[in-house]
Amino acid sequence: MRTPIIAGNWKMNKNPKETQEFLDGIKGKLPESGVEAIIGAPAIDLTTLVAGAEGTPLKTAAENSYFEESGAFTGETSPKALDEMGVDYVIIGHSERRQYFGETDEDINKKAHAILKNNMLPIICCGETLEQREAGKAESWVTGQIENAVKGISAADLVKSVIAYEPIWAIGTGKTATADQAQEMVHVIREKVASLYDADTADKVRILYGGSVKPANVKELMAKEDIDGGLVGGASMDPESFLALANFQK
Ligand code: 13P
Repeated sequence: MRTPIIAGNWKMNKNPKETQEFLDGIKGKLPESGVEAIIGAPAIDLTTLVAGAEGTPLKTAAENSYFEESGAFTGETSPKALDEMGVDYVIIGHSERRQYFGETDEDINKKAHAILKNNMLPIICCGETLEQREAGKAESWVTGQIENAVKGISAADLVKSVIAYEPIWAIGTGKTATADQAQEMVHVIREKVASLYDADTADKVRILYGGSVKPANVKELMAKEDIDGGLVGGASMDPESFLALANFQK
């Protein structure tokens, strides 16, 4: 049984004060069980976020971390420091990081290893462009991204990790993949995990869909067999909207 996940990704939005306001807005209103609610926030907000999440069902995520733990890497965020702060997850390989900051599959793999070594769990993102989809190359592209991202990761670590399928053409565009399109690719990813590992690992790993997920479409997406949750940008920033998503089962 895979526990569903509703994970927010605030991207480069909110300051510590706004983070606290969000925490005040959701206080005592998250489901105690049956769903894992996560907020991914900018590094500057994580101290506030982790403090506010303590003793509540809310889990926390960084939106990136480097693959080295310390050293002369100006501007980067240490996975060791994130772990010491009490952060639970790190989002890696988001299409915005790949597109604007040149993150490669190899970087993402190294980051995944560093995150697991530092007692946190990666949320590994993948997804195709519209051109790739229209050229019939979406499946091979996405499964290739996953194969590269998980190299050298044990089955025991992978089942605790999270994969997020985010078609680039559906991010921030208001254009959601249909639930059938999302299910189809998430299923392909699960099959890929089965071929790289085994059926049991594929059955246990949680795979999310991301791209214009909102309270109005979350139920339909979550009803799909292979979709275990949502990685949500825009609709995760308002407390009421995030609560509506996290309470999708009600
Ligand atoms: P939107 O939900 O705003 O489309 O963003 C999706 C996303 O990129 C989450 O990581």
